[in-house]
Parts: sequence; C-alpha cells; structure tokens
Amino acid sequence: MSAATGAQPEQPVVMKFGGTSLEDAAAIRRAIRIIQQRLPHRPVIVASALANVTDQLLAAGKTAARGELQTARASLQELKRRHEQVALDVAGSENYRTLHPQLEAEFQQLDALLASIATAGELTPRFQDQLLGAGECVSSRLVHAALAQAGLDAFWVDARACIVTDAAHTQATPLWDETNHRLQSAMAVPVVESRIPVLGGFIGATVDGIATTLGRGGSDFTASIVGAALQASRIEIWTDVDGILTADPNHLCPEARRVPSMSFEEAADLAYVGAKVLHPSSITPAMRKNIPVWVLNSRNPEGKGTEIVAHPGDECVMKAITVKNGVTVVDVEAVRWLAPELTREIFDVFERHQYSLDLLSASRGSLSLLVTATEALPAIADELKGLATVRWENHKALVCLVGEKVRRQPEIASQVFRALSAVDLRMICQGASERNISFLVDEVLAEDLVRRLHRLFFQSRFDRHSATTGSHPMCQAGGPWQ
Ligand code: ADP
Ligand code: ASP
Ligand code: MG
Repeated sequence: MSAATGAQPEQPVVMKFGGTSLEDAAAIRRAIRIIQQRLPHRPVIVASALANVTDQLLAAGKTAARGELQTARASLQELKRRHEQVALDVAGSENYRTLHPQLEAEFQQLDALLASIATAGELTPRFQDQLLGAGECVSSRLVHAALAQAGLDAFWVDARACIVTDAAHTQATPLWDETNHRLQSAMAVPVVESRIPVLGGFIGATVDGIATTLGRGGSDFTASIVGAALQASRIEIWTDVDGILTADPNHLCPEARRVPSMSFEEAADLAYVGAKVLHPSSITPAMRKNIPVWVLNSRNPEGKGTEIVAHPGDECVMKAITVKNGVTVVDVEAVRWLAPELTREIFDVFERHQYSLDLLSASRGSLSLLVTATEALPAIADELKGLATVRWENHKALVCLVGEKVRRQPEIASQVFRALSAVDLRMICQGASERNISFLVDEVLAEDLVRRLHRLFFQSRFDRHSATTGSHPMCQAGGPWQ
C-alpha cells in the first residue's frame, strides 16, 4: 500500500503468541493462519514456550537440584518427545531435516545442564535462566519451521544475541541502547524486504553472553521491546482470552467482559497489580513510543480484542478489578524517630537484599511496605536491629480497582467501604497511582471480595445495558461510572 502512495514503507506489526496459543501443532497452525492475514503489514513474530513448558523445565531443575537427576532427565525426555512430535507435524519433512538436529542439540545441552545443577545441588538464578529460556529457543524454532512449511520467507533470530540485559537473573532489564541497536541491525532491513523474523520471547543475555530472562510472562515484554526498537505500527499480544476483561475470567469472574479500550497507564497499573494477561513491564516501551498494543484471542481471531492507546475513545471510569496474592506487609518502626538517614538506610537494606518495594504508608515513626517474598526478612530485621524493629504479616492480597478516573470519584471508595463493611480492610492506598484504588485483605477473602465488587461495579452495568439492547458492550456513553 505504501509503494502505491510513495509513502515510507509500512512499519512492522509485532505479533506475540503466548504459550496457550502455541500449545500443540493445531494451535501453531492457527497462529500461522493469523500471521498470514497480516503479511501486508510486515509481521515480526515473538514466540513464548509451548504451554506449560516453562513450568515443567522449572520443576525438572528443582528435581535435579534435589539430587534426583534420573527423574529430572525423564521429564526432559518427555518434553523432548512432545517437541519432536509437534515438529514432525508442523515442519514437513524438508524443514524437519534442518529442525531435528537443532532440537537434538538444544535438548543435549539441557541434559548436561541438569547434570550440572544436580552436581551443584542448587538451582541458582543463573542456572534457572539457562534452563527456562530453552523453552522459547525451541518453540521459536518450531514456529519458524511452520512458517517455512507454509511457504513464507521467515528467518530465525537468536533473541539472546539481541536482547542485551543486566545480570539481574530471573528478572533482567534490557540495556536499551545496545538492545535497540542489535534488534534494528538484525531485523530492520529484512522486514522492509517482507521477510518475517521469528524470535523467542522472555530471553536475553548479558553483554558477556550469559543467558538471562525477563521475569515470568516476559514474552509480552519482549514484544514491546521489539516493537519500540522497530517503531512498529502496533504490537499484538495473542493469548487465550478475548482481550483484557473486567476481571480474570478463569480464576475470578467467569462473567467478566471484554474491555474495548484502555489507556497505557491503566493497562500498566493492571499488569503491575497482578493481571497475568500482561507482563508488568510490557506496556512501558510501547508507551514511550506511543505504539498501540492490542490484546487478542488466537482462538477467536475475528474478535475485537482490547486496544491499549494513549487516549482511549471511551469515557469509562472503571475498567477492571484485579488481585495480587502472596503479598506481605512489612512494618518497620524506628526505635527513636524516622530520620531521613534512617529511611534511606531502610531502603538500602531492602535493596541490598534485592527487594522491590511498594510503600504503603509512612508516618513520623514507621513505614509500611509491601513485598512479595519473605525469605530475606529475618536477615533484614537483623541488619536494622537497634535502629528499627521489623514485623511482617503474610498471606495478604492486594485488591485493586483500575480506571483512569476512579480516584476523582470519591463515591467509589465509599461504595467499596460500604459493600465490604464487615471485612477487615487493612488499608486503602491512594498514594501510588492516580488510576487505582487498592486495598489489602487476607488472601483467603480476596476472591470472594473481587466477585462482590465485580457485581457491584460491572454486573449492574451489563444487566442494564442488555435490558435495553440485548447485548453487553462495556462502557457505553451515559453509563453509571462515567
Ligand atoms: P499467554 O500464555 O498467552 O501469555 P497468560 O496465561 O500469561 O497467557 O495470560 C492470559 C491469562 O491471563 C488468561 O487466561 C486469564 O486467566 C488471565 N487474566 C488475568 N487477569 C485478566 C484480565 N483482567 N483479563 C483477561 N485475562 C486475565
Ligand atoms: N514462557 C515464559 C513463562 O511461562 C514466558 C512467557 O510465556 O511469556 O513465564
Ligand atoms: Mg503471559
């Protein structure tokens, strides 16, 4: 289309397929059909590991670390068989001839890695990154072979040679300049020539070539990193639900509905507080370059999905409810008073133990912090002895209502309090973000509370709308929360 108008060649569309969108040969073929529909838009493909593979690799690593090497090896063989079967099915005999030795080599390395883990008796973060990243290395090879089998001019890109990160194993962050440079060198020209790059999500490597990963669910982040580097026209996250919904439809509210559009900030908040549908960092690179992100269902590719943009067209106040389980509240109380130097020291101690913190509240004498791991808390308490006492309470959940203007409508908070008056809400934290109201409850209560709030804030809206129109679109003009 651009050739006809003499305009710049069209910028690529980055398409990320999650594990459930690549679970078996049929799913991969479905993904290939979706990609074929995007050919005029210069697709760049980011592949997650096949469904459940990352969890299975992790389990094998833990088994090896316990010294049960034979059991770990048997699980690896099972994974190898599964990949071989899919490969045979999607690649066709000619492509399989190239693919087979690649799979062999990858699984041989994994076998040696399990032996090293067993010898070390420990699954270190560095071992873990090497192990888990293999899932994306092999899945991206499978997708590449399937595209080739469909007659498309695809080429495999080694993500570990392009996504250059710091050495924060299991949660690495890209070194942006180097990563952008390498991604552009590897892909910009071939993309203009209508070739299709395929790379594994989730994985990277340090400048010294040591394997890293971007955190669980990190393929979404890869898609956004690649999209920003190539100045994509859009980034598509293909998953197993119809878009971002008003709540998690699988684990919380089966009646949840698709949200047609969201702002970058709303989506980032939602991901940050636990909506698994997007990796917490995945919106930032796209937002910086103002690239629309779409969340779409690979099982229902004709569906409309959710559009995430700077300024969504709708005026809907509340978009979704989410919950982050496994939260611990840490109260740090100064022995005397909370001088600025002590506050700095407290944050430094947590940082030295690699904690990322959310500050819930601060007073003259104490800080309340939210963390998601407790292992180092005794050591932290020890280090702060004499300066502050450290107490913590775990098994908490952070329930969060997200929407661009929720905080500008005080009646929302009062409705929450009224609806949950019998429940001990630890606190409502209004500080961190403009776009959400969050509160802490005992983990065992969270699911039920989310369902009640979902009914309160969304169900009535669906019902009212369907009574007048017979359909259920979200966020119609004139609705109750606009
Ligand atoms: P993928 O394998 O495609 O990356 P994920 O399992 O990481 O998929 O993310 C999709 C899942 O996210 C959905 O199946 C759903 O259970 C969960 N989820 C959590 N919150 C939401 C939400 N608000 N909207 C849609 N899905 C959600
Ligand atoms: N396969 C990785 C995981 O399960 C990354 C991803 O799926 O995005 O965490
Ligand atoms: Mg995911």
